[in-house]
Amino acid sequence: MALIVQKFGGTSVANAERIFNVARIITETYAAGNNVVAVVSAQGDTTDDFIEKAAEINANPSKREMDVLLSAGEQISMSLLAMAIEKLGFPVISLTGWQAGFLTDSSHGAARIRKINVERLENEVDQKKIVIVAGFQGVNRFDNITTLGRGGSDTSAVAIAAAMKADLCQIYTDVDGVYTADPRYVGNAQKLDEITYDEMLELATLGANVLHNRSVEMAKKYNVNMEVLSSLERLPGTKVKEVTKVEKMLIRGVARDNNVARLSIIGVPDAPGIAFKVFSALAKSKINVDIILQSIGREGTKDISFTVALDHKLEAMKVLDSMKEIIRADKITCDDNVSKVSVVGAGMQSNPGVAAKMFEALSEAQINIQMISTSEIKISVLISRADSEKALTAIHDSFIH
Ligand code: ASP
Ligand code: MG
Repeated sequence: MALIVQKFGGTSVANAERIFNVARIITETYAAGNNVVAVVSAQGDTTDDFIEKAAEINANPSKREMDVLLSAGEQISMSLLAMAIEKLGFPVISLTGWQAGFLTDSSHGAARIRKINVERLENEVDQKKIVIVAGFQGVNRFDNITTLGRGGSDTSAVAIAAAMKADLCQIYTDVDGVYTADPRYVGNAQKLDEITYDEMLELATLGANVLHNRSVEMAKKYNVNMEVLSSLERLPGTKVKEVTKVEKMLIRGVARDNNVARLSIIGVPDAPGIAFKVFSALAKSKINVDIILQSIGREGTKDISFTVALDHKLEAMKVLDSMKEIIRADKITCDDNVSKVSVVGAGMQSNPGVAAKMFEALSEAQINIQMISTSEIKISVLISRADSEKALTAIHDSFIH
């Protein structure tokens, strides 16, 4: 008998009708002879509404109390879903994060799962019950409620699948799979049948926004069979796994990331030690640097540019300003009217010409490239934000027809 973990996102349980829809998916899976553990997110915009409610009371609440509040959203969903399943006449029990054995560290609001004590889960499954678990939450070693960070229910589901050695972890959401580009911006984006963990990780970090990053990391680590599919349309979804069929497809997807700013240090002496000073100071302030570019300037000077996430922009500017004298920079500038556009595909490891093709598409669309970076399965360019939608379509259409 197979064990299937199913996760349902906020839109999938947004109202009574949708809860019954989810209850039917679960009970059909169960009636087909499987054991089912289902993980739920908070209904619709509940988590955002809770955040607003908190702000009305206290602009700076403790993270502990914030987690107590936010975890309530998933507790509402799990009980309503269990009631719907009761109504359909199936044996069911709902469990909060701590009842399901989720132990986390103490970073409230961004907790990491340390361990899942699966005894309770296994007992309930052994008694032939459908088990509904509140996603996104656990407890630390002092029994305080913690949450896993926005979108964390995906990670709860994969963690259960890994801990219980489930045969499959299905992530039901409001899109019917992973696409070659965001279908809202790219008209002929295509749904993928399958994608590797590594490709999915690149796309998740690049802002494809389908899965919580850490859920994919965890699925890769524990080799969890994962599938992304829609709860609203009953169609096959996208399978996420270690290796995929060799296809003609050179590129698996094109993604855009607007959460980026470019900082430049202009006119520093062309001497050893400058990059070291700059980037160790940024590291000390825990600022993650992405693309780095150094270029020759005028009269024995050089320029160094790099990108950071938007919410690190001010902090990074502060660090640079504080060292302007030490590194003898002429000027420090910042531009947040930029986007990072990337192509991702394991196929590029064994096929030359991917970069050329990407740059050709940009050149034909008259889009200027500010910075370039590459990894084994990814090529990213930094361009002006105003050009980013045009770039997405141009690059996508040159690779995928
Ligand atoms: N309800 C949480 C959120 O909105 C967790 C989740 O949806 O996965 O971020
Ligand atoms: Mg989500």
